[in-house]
Amino acid sequence: MTDYTNPSAELRARVALEKHRFRNTHSLGQNFLLAESLIALLLDDAGIAPEDNVLEIGPGAGVMTRLLAQRAKHVLAVEVDRGLEPVLEDVLEGMENAQVVFQDIMKSDLRALIDEHFGGESYRVVANLPYYITADILLKLAASDCPPQSIAIMVQKEAAERVMSVPGTKQWCALAAELQFYGAAQVLTEVAPEAFDPPPHVMSCFIRIDKYAEAPVNPLDEKVFRKLIRAAFAMRRKTLANNLKATFGFSQEVAKAILSAAGADEKVRGEALTLEELCRVSDAITKMA
Ligand code: SAM
Repeated sequence: MTDYTNPSAELRARVALEKHRFRNTHSLGQNFLLAESLIALLLDDAGIAPEDNVLEIGPGAGVMTRLLAQRAKHVLAVEVDRGLEPVLEDVLEGMENAQVVFQDIMKSDLRALIDEHFGGESYRVVANLPYYITADILLKLAASDCPPQSIAIMVQKEAAERVMSVPGTKQWCALAAELQFYGAAQVLTEVAPEAFDPPPHVMSCFIRIDKYAEAPVNPLDEKVFRKLIRAAFAMRRKTLANNLKATFGFSQEVAKAILSAAGADEKVRGEALTLEELCRVSDAITKMA
């Protein structure tokens, strides 16, 4: 017999969205995932275990949040849209280990959130976010002073291809280099537009990035390394020497001396370099300072 005294998370969300007459805001990328069977598969792939603290970014109607709370130790969901408050209250009813805070994740103090809600313990991120903030949020998490153990996130298929790209290819970019410095990425599942409500116009991929126990390179100064990565891809048609001049304010002679100290060709383009080569250039800059 079906038990309607304990409705599914999906049913709770559908009823709450209707009851509170919620209207999706297109500009906030509110394409919701409501199908529990799909979300359960995604959370299996995300590897969420009972001992995990989970930061969910953009809970929307909260179906994934409720399922996360059933699997994890503690769930903190950060949602920018206060209009979702009554919906989330209904959907998360009885889930004592799930909290929602209403703020823009791009303006959040990650360290303060983690300390306050997870007592500074390690945590994982799960997110289905608007695609226009994918790169910014990934960079914010990966470069943070309290990076998550893993990030499982829904991204546009093209973004997944960029994240997985390797040096020397057209897709190799600052985002890929930064993320490869943080962890190992894998594409878990392709998700068709019809899985979302309303459907977006693009194919999506659920990807997971696991933080390395040990970073693949150890730059002398991480800030210089990250600044160099941005510089290397800033103007793709320019040589790295020219990008170094523009970003770091070096003279032509100094830029050439840095490349030579790093064993790189003076005409090399930034996007041709591997993470190791970028690290050597970064260390040459640090030593020169
Ligand atoms: N995770 C839910 C799901 O799978 O159904 C909602 C997904 S919907 C694609 C994106 C959610 O992120 C929306 O609820 C939106 O309001 C929220 N959002 C958008 N920008 C945000 C930001 N800067 N900070 C926090 N949440 C944001």
